[in-house]
Amino acid sequence: MFKRVPGTKDVLPDEAGQWQAIEAASRDTFSLYNYHEIRTPVIEEAALFNRTLGLTAEIVQKQMFLIHNQQDVYVLRPEGTASIARSYLENNLDKTSGFIKLYYIGPMFRLERPQKGRLRQFHHIGCEAIGSQEAILDIEVISLAARLLKNFAVSDYKIKINSLGCPKDKQTLSLNLKQGLQKEKQNLCADCQLRLENNILRILDCKNESCQKIVKTLALSNTHLCPDCLDHFKEVTDGLSSLNIAFDVEPQLVRGLDYYNRTVFEFTHSNLGSQDAIGAGGRYNNLIKELGGPDIGGIGFAFGMERLLLASKITGEKPLSRMVYLITLGKTAKNAGIKILNQLRLSGIPSDMDYLNRSLKAAMRAANDSGARYVLILGEDELKKNVISLRDMSNSTQREINIEELTEELKC
Ligand SMILES: [Zn+2]
Ligand SMILES: [Zn+2]
Repeated sequence: MFKRVPGTKDVLPDEAGQWQAIEAASRDTFSLYNYHEIRTPVIEEAALFNRTLGLTAEIVQKQMFLIHNQQDVYVLRPEGTASIARSYLENNLDKTSGFIKLYYIGPMFRLERPQKGRLRQFHHIGCEAIGSQEAILDIEVISLAARLLKNFAVSDYKIKINSLGCPKDKQTLSLNLKQGLQKEKQNLCADCQLRLENNILRILDCKNESCQKIVKTLALSNTHLCPDCLDHFKEVTDGLSSLNIAFDVEPQLVRGLDYYNRTVFEFTHSNLGSQDAIGAGGRYNNLIKELGGPDIGGIGFAFGMERLLLASKITGEKPLSRMVYLITLGKTAKNAGIKILNQLRLSGIPSDMDYLNRSLKAAMRAANDSGARYVLILGEDELKKNVISLRDMSNSTQREINIEELTEELKC
């Protein structure tokens, strides 16, 4: 028998209700903030991510789901932001609207060793607001994320926030770190020894214990920020406080992708152990320019759907409360039954039937299991009289009604 590819997951019908509830809450909330949906392809040119995430990013180095054909190298998208920036420019959205707010829901792919909490196909719910560098946008985006979490019935989460500053400040930060970490080189994990040379910021969020110990001794603060970036960050934190949004400033928070600058943030949840992030995001003022577009800022975030589901108390859609279940006895009745079901569904009444030629008793049991409110029983005798038996499962009463009156009867 075939098995699913390692690191992928089937969402079965009894879980799908929860997925739908989260997706519905997302769409409602994004609409409330006037975000519009964008759907980009799941395959992109690999070079798009090499260019934007940075060649030293873990995703680019180790996790790209590459597809080679004769001339091109494609990749199953590992994240949403670069694709949306590509689409924004390719479709001239910078020229038509200047400032735009977009959201997306869909699968992402990373080729990594499957382990608990890490899938090769996972799902993101995210947004991007492109075209402004204003701190007020950072405030809105973070408050939108907090509102989403509330609507997903996620509580006990934490917002961590930091500012990387402009590219110059990032360089200062990297240099400071290099000075502080060089003498500890032999005590860092093997990955971090490499990062020391090519992706030093990433050492700050290494999960290795001895690396974390060393990072703690650095006594990080925001001394790398220039006056402009310091002002911007203060505006953001003041704005969040004015909206009563609780957050922790976390100088260790860097996010490992090249395109981030200034505000970065992360949402963590206590239920999730060491991989405790349920979502993250940040500002990327150079991303659009890096891709050949104008010099405009952007900011966005994404939640991991599978992580959200572990933290969310949202319940799936309730079973249909007015479901009708039809049982027919005999071939003539079955043929008449098809028409009756068709009529009910045309009138918007959810309905189903027995497809297995079960006995009346077994079919009644199936009707009961399906959660149907009403059961219709149609046999040859009823058909001759042009009536149908209608049983109300909520009070176990049964009566015969005219077939023509059935739809009216069930509508109310
Ligand atoms: Zn700066
Ligand atoms: Zn390390």
